[in-house]
Amino acid sequence: MGGYEYLLSNINNIDGIGTKTAKLLQKKNINTVFDLLWNLPQNFTDRSNLVKINELQIGKIQTVRIHVKKYNFPRIRNLPNKVLCEDDTGKLDCIFFNSYEGYIRKILPLNEKITISGKINYYKKKYQITNPTYLSKDKSVIKKIHNKYNLTEGITEKKYNFIINQIIEKLPDLKEWLSPRIANLFNNIRWKESIVKLHDYNNIGKHNTKFFKRLVFDEILSSFIVFSETRKSIKKIKKNKKIFSNKYSNETINNFGFNLTKDQINTLKEINVDLSSKSKMFRILQGDVGSGKTIVALLSSLNVIESGYQVAFMSPTEILANQHYNLAKKIFPNEINIDLLTGKTESVSKKIIIFNLKNSSTKMVFGTHSLFQKKTLFKKLGYIIIDEQHKFGVKQRKSLSDKGGSNCDILLMSATPIPRTLTMTIYGDMDLSVISEKPKNRKEIITYSKREDNIKDILTFVKKEIDKGNQIFWVCPLIDDSKKIDHQSAIKKFNSLNKLFHSRVAIIHSKIDNDKKNIILKGFLNKKFDILVSTTIIEVGIDFPNANVIIIENSNKFGLSQLHQLRGRVGRGVNQGKCILMFKNNLSENAKKRIKILKNTNNGFVISNEDMKLRGFGDVLGFKQSGDKKFNLADPIIHEDLFKIAEKEIRRIEIEETNLSKYKTLIKLYDKADIIYDLV
Ligand code: ADP
Ligand code: MG
Repeated sequence: MGGYEYLLSNINNIDGIGTKTAKLLQKKNINTVFDLLWNLPQNFTDRSNLVKINELQIGKIQTVRIHVKKYNFPRIRNLPNKVLCEDDTGKLDCIFFNSYEGYIRKILPLNEKITISGKINYYKKKYQITNPTYLSKDKSVIKKIHNKYNLTEGITEKKYNFIINQIIEKLPDLKEWLSPRIANLFNNIRWKESIVKLHDYNNIGKHNTKFFKRLVFDEILSSFIVFSETRKSIKKIKKNKKIFSNKYSNETINNFGFNLTKDQINTLKEINVDLSSKSKMFRILQGDVGSGKTIVALLSSLNVIESGYQVAFMSPTEILANQHYNLAKKIFPNEINIDLLTGKTESVSKKIIIFNLKNSSTKMVFGTHSLFQKKTLFKKLGYIIIDEQHKFGVKQRKSLSDKGGSNCDILLMSATPIPRTLTMTIYGDMDLSVISEKPKNRKEIITYSKREDNIKDILTFVKKEIDKGNQIFWVCPLIDDSKKIDHQSAIKKFNSLNKLFHSRVAIIHSKIDNDKKNIILKGFLNKKFDILVSTTIIEVGIDFPNANVIIIENSNKFGLSQLHQLRGRVGRGVNQGKCILMFKNNLSENAKKRIKILKNTNNGFVISNEDMKLRGFGDVLGFKQSGDKKFNLADPIIHEDLFKIAEKEIRRIEIEETNLSKYKTLIKLYDKADIIYDLV
């Protein structure tokens, strides 16, 4: 049977698709026949009802059978050609812009009876149809129902229907890949039949049907199989065990002024087990902002160093690389040499750093992603840590894992806590460690919302906090005023606050160069300033335990998870954290909801879940940035039950099915990441 090749064929090869149409579709990311299947009908036009002219309804698409009476072809530019028509109840004009006489004479021959269809207008007491598209001598030929599709800008409804109908007709009957038990859950409706139903106007919007769910399940299962295979192939990679006695890490823990949380202890254990095993670690460490992931990563690094390997710690920004480097310098035993290597490092020091990495006298290096393009940098790299990476796709992760070489263990850290089903969907290729409890000394951050016109009260409050010795973040959505006037700008805010607060205010944003940024941040850390005005540049990871208040201007402009991340910048020390969400009047319902959720909970899991309900999971998890595929139909929130069934099924497949060739077609069709080449 086979036949999936047709589905993967380029749209260029399809009847009715010329270069122009192909280009329009490609712009919408539709490249193959298979891609076309997921552009769903949104509505339909019913042309089946023949009406008389005196029954026509203005503004509707209707079908009438008319008698062609007379041509009116004005030989003046810009005036349309007209064909006067009638039936036994009234008159109707067909209007043609940009059409040749010859064409009109052909489609509407004089004195013939023709069935036409189009949108009805009324002009100078007469009915009109402009550029009628469906014309036929034979009453029965006009297809009754025409679907209306999205993403068809520039392509006529008639043409698009012609294309899609042809494809539906040629659909191959693919061999069933679902196991009998699963297929039974969907009434044994096969793939082909499901697609046919998907494009049937009767089923538009019917997502609670067996056929629809079957198609959803196919998507989930295929992605789980891809993950499972990737995971297995990584697991197969053999490495040298890392041998250590926890000497350095224990020494460091003992010097902390705090105890590790239970989750920190457990996750550290999980990582240690992986490090000392014979297979390569490929693990994600998940935990809410401020849950103490960085500490766990650093402690595990010490074990790797003890075992004689080097470590690379990558951060998304130079500010964070700096911060992590400084933290390590503070807590690591003195005899361990570490270094910081960023784009800003001077070339002389760079040479020295690289020299020391190559001869392995430097044990650990901190930096941004550029670090990992230079694997030749190391003598014996054994561990790569990547912070705040949730914008990586599965393909990028795989290539990362390949890059370090087989002896290199990999730990990703993510501060976007997500429910388990979702974790399977996004990080199914990795092992999972979760920190769910926060350090005990943390108090919940208290969140307020205030209208902008309350600024006086807010300034009084800020002054009080400063008098107590506390520090404040003041976040604005824009750097300067140039673009949107209704948004607060950081520069303006800085100028006005700096006057009010006696030059004890600093500002950072992305246009300030890194050296200066670091000086400013250091100054803030050392309490040279009371207020730090910034853009969302502080969103990820920045750790200033003494800052306990964050004020967010135009807070309605930010997403829920982003606000939670920003808020997580405070309340890291012993002082009560406070967050003030500022807004102008007229909040949308959605913005009100976001504020309410933030006021009600500090739990990152709850917040990301709510965020996904409001925005869809692809946006929250940054699929857009990663270029990873989004599902066409499946949604982890809506179809949670199907994800759970698929999770069980993949575990069963992993155990019971050694030969996966049965799933070959499924994977060939659905795996856009294209990372599994052979399933046998
Ligand atoms: P994350 O990386 O998860 O956002 P960090 O590791 O940066 O969190 O930790 C946030 C802050 O909490 C840091 O100042 C860190 O020193 C502190 N911290 C970490 N673990 C603990 C703990 N067990 N008890 C108290 N404070 C902790
Ligand atoms: Mg962090």
